[in-house]
Amino acid sequence: MFFKDSYDVIVVGGGPSGSTAARYAARNGADVLLVEKRQEIGSPVRCGEGVSMEIFKHVDIKPDSSWFVNQVTGARIFGPSGKFILIDAKKAGDEVGAVIERDNFDKYLATEAARAGAEIATKTSVVALNRDGGEITGVRVRRMGEEKDVSAKLVIGADGFESQIARWSGFNTNLKTRDTTSNLQYRMTNLDLDPRFTDFYIGSVAPGGYVWIFPKSREVANVGIGLLLSKIKGPSEAKDYLDAFIENDIRFKNASIMETVSGGVSVSAPLDKVTADRIMLVGDAARMIDPLTGGGISNGVIAGKVCGEVAAEAVKAQDFSDEFLQRYEKGWRELLEEKLYRDYMAKEKLVSLDDVALDKLIEVMSAVRLENLSTKEILTAIRSKYPELVKEFEDLI
Ligand SMILES: Cc1cc2nc3c(=O)[nH]c(=O)nc-3n(C[C@H](O)[C@H](O)[C@H](O)COP(=O)(O)OP(=O)(O)OC[C@H]3O[C@@H](n4cnc5c(N)ncnc54)[C@H](O)[C@@H]3O)c2cc1C
Repeated sequence: MFFKDSYDVIVVGGGPSGSTAARYAARNGADVLLVEKRQEIGSPVRCGEGVSMEIFKHVDIKPDSSWFVNQVTGARIFGPSGKFILIDAKKAGDEVGAVIERDNFDKYLATEAARAGAEIATKTSVVALNRDGGEITGVRVRRMGEEKDVSAKLVIGADGFESQIARWSGFNTNLKTRDTTSNLQYRMTNLDLDPRFTDFYIGSVAPGGYVWIFPKSREVANVGIGLLLSKIKGPSEAKDYLDAFIENDIRFKNASIMETVSGGVSVSAPLDKVTADRIMLVGDAARMIDPLTGGGISNGVIAGKVCGEVAAEAVKAQDFSDEFLQRYEKGWRELLEEKLYRDYMAKEKLVSLDDVALDKLIEVMSAVRLENLSTKEILTAIRSKYPELVKEFEDLI
């Protein structure tokens, strides 16, 4: 093994959230080890690769041609009847974003972490959280069949949707089926698309979720589906729904599938608490995914920055208590929490609507001039023009 026996901070998980937390902890003076179980950062990709532009406002990231491949000008949201609303970038503010090469993006973030001074250990799994008299003292890692204890004053759990760090440290990350989506995606080629738009299809085409088309170019796109587990018999139904959608769309007539990926995404409200003595959770591990869109990259990176900065402050103060780490809770919640809860309530409402109601919603939204794609803005606009329709949504405004 190449790394030391002891660090200030160990970050578990080399995804966007973990690399960003490692970067900002190291940049601010902490001695950091970033541990990733996969042999290659960012690969294989399990992602639609759509990001909001919000990320660039909060974190020092410059779009790089290795991963920033298609900045779209708008998003089209199609209702069951085929009517759609076009949300252009100006109206949508930061929600309409870019399609990236996720493997290169993750490598870019890890490189930034390394440049800031973090050590990176790939093909290294954290297999246990070590404690002494109940206090977290570090982690046990396994690399190529060999195990080793590495001590740390602080552990950051950035180990994704199925976070073991969260479970081992006693956080309740259990998800209800109504708060979990099953996702399947094809990377397709030989398509005939308009690459200026990301497309979303809602309604019975994707119960409790949506179909997405995120184009990288006219020919190549990620075409995927997310279905709410409580609305289907089992995850295998995702393939039936996605194949049926593709079958019925002329743009896919000559298309071929280059890659298939699947995975779970939480669409829950965020955890009430993501810190304890000597531990912080970030990104998917902390249930920071936007419950309306299922997108988690931006939130993970934005929270990752706060997490890393607070980790470095804790090292300077030599205070790793839950009380000190409240700085992180306060910081990330100020940036993300209100939207996460609002979008959670919006999701809860939207999944209860049938195709007829969804079509009405699309119709009224297309008649309203939207300055911003925030849920609040949309609902307020609908209320001012169509009070009878918005009755159902009143509690969200
Ligand atoms: C099919 C699909 C499509 C999606 N599309 C989008 C999209 O278009 N846009 C978007 O914003 N989000 C999307 N998401 C969600 C997005 O992928 C996640 O929100 C994002 O990856 C979260 O980043 P993270 O760093 O928190 O976790 P992850 O990216 O999951 O990173 C966690 C890392 O921890 C590592 N790890 C886990 N356990 C251990 C361990 N014990 N030891 C060491 N390492 C460990 C894993 O190998 C992994 O690399 C999609 C998800 C799926 C499944």
